[in-house]
Amino acid sequence: MADRIRKRKNRDGSSTQRRRRLAEFSSSSGFLMPKCSYCHEHGLDCHVSGTSNRCGPCNRVNRPSCDVWGLDPGTCRVLLGRSLAVG
Ligand SMILES: [Zn+2]
Ligand SMILES: [Zn+2]
Repeated sequence: MADRIRKRKNRDGSSTQRRRRLAEFSSSSGFLMPKCSYCHEHGLDCHVSGTSNRCGPCNRVNRPSCDVWGLDPGTCRVLLGRSLAVG
C-alpha cells in the first residue's frame, strides 16, 4: 500500500527547461505575468525579472513559494483570457 503513494517530484529537466525558456522570453527589466496566487489575492501586478524565480511582490515580502513560474501555458491562457474578460 505504501508504494501507491508516490511523492511527486518535478523532474529537473522539464521544469528547468521551461523556466529557462520563460526567462529568455521575459525581458531583463521585467515582464508582466499572469498573476501568481499572492498577487491574485492582493490585487498586485505580477512582474518578474527573469533572473528571479519569484515575482516582484513576492520578492519584496520574501515569500518562499511564488507559483508564478508554476503556471503551465494552458493555465496562463485561461488566466489571461479571464483577466481580459473581467477587466
Ligand atoms: Zn506575483
Ligand atoms: Zn509571486
